[in-house]
Amino acid sequence: MSTIRLAYRLLHDAYGPQGWWPAATRSGVADAWEIAVGAVLVQHTSWKNVVRAIANLESAGAMSFTAIDAIEPEALAQIIRSAGPPNVKAKRLKAFARFLVESHGGSMDALLDGVVDRKIALERRSQLLGVHGVGPETADAILLYAGGAPLFVVDAYKRRVMRRHGWGDSTAKYDEVAAFWRKRLPNDVKTYAETHALLVRVGIEHCHASRAKCEGCPLQALLPNSGPLE
Ligand code: SF4
Repeated sequence: MSTIRLAYRLLHDAYGPQGWWPAATRSGVADAWEIAVGAVLVQHTSWKNVVRAIANLESAGAMSFTAIDAIEPEALAQIIRSAGPPNVKAKRLKAFARFLVESHGGSMDALLDGVVDRKIALERRSQLLGVHGVGPETADAILLYAGGAPLFVVDAYKRRVMRRHGWGDSTAKYDEVAAFWRKRLPNDVKTYAETHALLVRVGIEHCHASRAKCEGCPLQALLPNSGPLE
């Protein structure tokens, strides 16, 4: 078994299925629009702050794409300020809502239609990358978790684990890192989704930016003999 598959197995055995994308304010799994809002808001902030922002959007009756499209940017910034920087995030959310209205009639179903096919997924991805504030990580998270697209999300947690274990080139371009993981995992969307969620969890619980807490980490058995690389 390849090291990457083994890493997946160890994480899955230790943590079990992560059930992503979690609904922010209810139990269960988020719907496609909430996934998109969450993916835009979570950039450079914690999920806890996103949960507060989404709860505020819901209490203000502003969680729909029509409400976000219509609301003044300053008012939106005020509602989502917990997921700061508020003006930046408000501009991004409004840009996403406008894109959805202009390109897909305001329908997440239309945006996600057919993305289980990789060719269609890549077309929609390139549309999304044209939206203000949507980078590859956000686009892939939306398409993978909301639409079941065969895309792999790359983030700082993943690069950190790669670097500390000496797996591939953790500094490579986004698409190269994604290809590294896709090539080594089963060609299966559920595994892509689960692997990302599991690596986020290990990043939060053990593989901190400031220090690797390797003792008790599910990936400890896969470290180089000399310990984590820096
Ligand atoms: S905490 Fe240590 S064992 Fe766990 S992923 Fe990071 S470097 Fe690997």
